[in-house]
Amino acid sequence: MTRIAARLFLIANCNIVAFSLSFKYNAAMIRDSIRILQAQGYKATKPRKLVLEILEEMGKPLSPYDIQGVLRARGKYLNHVTIYRILALLCRLNLTHKMLSSGGFVKCSLNAIEGCHRFMVCQQCGTIQEFADKELCREENEFAQNLGFYTEHHLSEFSGLCSRCRK
Ligand SMILES: [Zn+2]
Ligand SMILES: [Zn+2]
Repeated sequence: MTRIAARLFLIANCNIVAFSLSFKYNAAMIRDSIRILQAQGYKATKPRKLVLEILEEMGKPLSPYDIQGVLRARGKYLNHVTIYRILALLCRLNLTHKMLSSGGFVKCSLNAIEGCHRFMVCQQCGTIQEFADKELCREENEFAQNLGFYTEHHLSEFSGLCSRCRK
């Protein structure tokens, strides 16, 4: 079942990279994630692969209990503490992200792309578009620096309507 899941929808300039999460499973994305995991010195264990695969496949924010439920429906079992630990590791490596609005976890659709990964969330259909924009990061860093603050990371989510729902 290899289909293109992440759809490149916008490259307005070289700084902006954006993908929209979709409901189709993309085996290449999983292979890339596993490669990144291993390059950081972590084993691609079966439970880690399962969590990555389910997030990629479902294409929407899931809680650890949601992930456990999907696994259970397939006759598989992972303790929810194990799922939490796996998600904490995957988030640290930027392979998954915790959504600010829902608290659910999503598979990163940008993988190793530089810059802080952020999201646009459609209020109507729930579509999530992930993007990274180094110029935006630079501007925000400057803004913070003027207030004497040193920024290490930016988290942000835009809420509104996606291009399809606006039509
Ligand atoms: Zn990401
Ligand atoms: Zn929408």
